[in-house]
Amino acid sequence: MAKNVVVIGGVACGPKAAARLRRLNAQARITVIEQGEYISYAGCGLPYFVGGDIKEFEHLFATAAGAARNAGYFQKVKDIQFATRTRAESIDRTAKVVHAKNLATGESIEFPYDNLVLATGSRPFRPPVEGLELKGVSFLTKVEDSVFLREEVNESKGGKAVIIGAGLIGLEAAEAFRKKGWQVQIIEMLDQPLGGLMDFEMAKAIDNALFENNVMTAYGEKVVRIEGDENGHCKSVITDEGSYPADVVLVATGFRPNAELAKSAGLEIGPTGGIAVNEHMQTSDPAIYAGGDCVECRHLVTGKPVFVPLGSTANKHGRVIGDNIAGLESRFPGVLGTMVVKVFNMNAGRTGLTEREAAEAGFDPVCSIAPGFDKAHYYPGSALIGLKLIADRKTEKVLGLQAFGGGEVARRVDVAVAAITMGATVEQLAEFDLGYAPPFAQAVDAILNAANVANNKMRGVTRSIMPQRVKQMIEAEEDFILLDVRTPREYEMGHIDAPQTMNLPLGELREKALSALPQDKPIVTMCKISQRGYEAQRTLAGMGFKDVAFMDGGLFVWPYPDDVM
Ligand SMILES: Cc1cc2nc3c(=O)[nH]c(=O)nc-3n(C[C@H](O)[C@H](O)[C@H](O)COP(=O)(O)OP(=O)(O)OC[C@H]3O[C@@H](n4cnc5c(N)ncnc54)[C@H](O)[C@@H]3O)c2cc1C
Repeated sequence: MAKNVVVIGGVACGPKAAARLRRLNAQARITVIEQGEYISYAGCGLPYFVGGDIKEFEHLFATAAGAARNAGYFQKVKDIQFATRTRAESIDRTAKVVHAKNLATGESIEFPYDNLVLATGSRPFRPPVEGLELKGVSFLTKVEDSVFLREEVNESKGGKAVIIGAGLIGLEAAEAFRKKGWQVQIIEMLDQPLGGLMDFEMAKAIDNALFENNVMTAYGEKVVRIEGDENGHCKSVITDEGSYPADVVLVATGFRPNAELAKSAGLEIGPTGGIAVNEHMQTSDPAIYAGGDCVECRHLVTGKPVFVPLGSTANKHGRVIGDNIAGLESRFPGVLGTMVVKVFNMNAGRTGLTEREAAEAGFDPVCSIAPGFDKAHYYPGSALIGLKLIADRKTEKVLGLQAFGGGEVARRVDVAVAAITMGATVEQLAEFDLGYAPPFAQAVDAILNAANVANNKMRGVTRSIMPQRVKQMIEAEEDFILLDVRTPREYEMGHIDAPQTMNLPLGELREKALSALPQDKPIVTMCKISQRGYEAQRTLAGMGFKDVAFMDGGLFVWPYPDDVM
């Protein structure tokens, strides 16, 4: 007899599981229950619809060939039934029935199943502050939100938008609102954007991109309430430090797994609050699978459960679920928390562990910050990118990568994903046979260079010091020399303004170092991207200077722009 498969949730994981199952099993009866009106839409495209990059509403639902992905399409092309505006209210696991309600008519409906798929997604976190119900206050998680924001934040009106949260959605929305000519103020509780996703000095580059594009930021401030006017419309956002006028407020403070249905059905919930699943995406009830934002995943580096809600993962989950229901055994081993984001002209990405996460997980992290050009430096359009590679001193395995810059960042992140997934050491990463031609990369790609630097550090070939540590040394008025080895002209155009700073160009170092530099003081060499700084460190060490290190990342990654004069 044909299998009866019911899927709850009709956006990413659910339709993917259903479509994969159909490709493998022509007989199964497949029904997808979705409480909303819209199905299988491009949730990740919503900020671009708000900003106008995606012009037409219909494009959010179109296949690459231009067909509209609606219930009729799924029925006709894939023989999959959709019950939209229908909410699954409970699951009777003994009788194997989903009890649901048609939200348009109020009618109760029963959906019997042999296999059930939970793809109920996540919901936005509602910070515990007054005023979230005011007019003009919105989240950006649903199609309806994007339609509201696109209409509200439009060019002809002009106005002030306050975004609460400098995570991925907050940053994408900031760009969308600026495109509409609105003033934008971000309020973030942490001291940096993308907190938890990137280390401070790397995230600072994103903050610079916001600054350059006239987005105002308030870090380390906590929203306490949103105030409204006499018409019940938002008027201002009040934090523990100030007040910000607001015609529109976007709340972008993260997500929580939508696991209540599973929980009330007695399915196991993991420590992160997501539904616990095995590698086959099976819940604690073998007849029920779950995937996408409602489940927790295993982190591939730490082995610990994590909640990382991403469309990339939801689609993979859907495929694995479809396979296993069809009897084709397949596994989803885990995630690295890989993300890429565009913030105005800045691209950024990360995968694996940050330096802080690596230390917290018990590793002894060795980091290299190695800026380089994304293409051959002489090729038109080449741009600098900053890479931070994190490795484990003991095993020498790559643990993580963060990247930012105006150039091609995603490719380097993806190479790091491959290295970490396969358990490569920094030495093995440095040996990767990556493609090279001037329009695509340097002969030694930036990520291979980052691996070489980390390898040098592990082998004691070179010594370096992180920018934050240099800043501490300056502030503590330590007796050392911050040796800027760029040309006098570059130096005059901008250098770290500190009493310890001194300029001696690399080209003059061999000739003048012995007379110009004291042998008994620590020396930190630096340049724009740390290449000449590294060269200077090796030169001075070779001349007998005992305590020399170069500053990781150079001025390009220096996270304190106010110090540069
Ligand atoms: C603005 C935005 C930008 C994003 N950008 C990116 C990006 O660039 N890259 C990336 O990888 N990810 C991105 N994401 C995340 C990505 O969209 C989600 O991870 C993905 O949509 C999760 O898919 P899902 O199927 O698990 O859940 P969802 O897409 O949340 O779908 C779950 C569906 O289940 C329905 N549902 C829940 N409970 C019930 C019930 N009881 N009965 C019936 N229906 C129910 C909900 O109505 C919902 O429609 C972005 C998300 C947003 C909001």
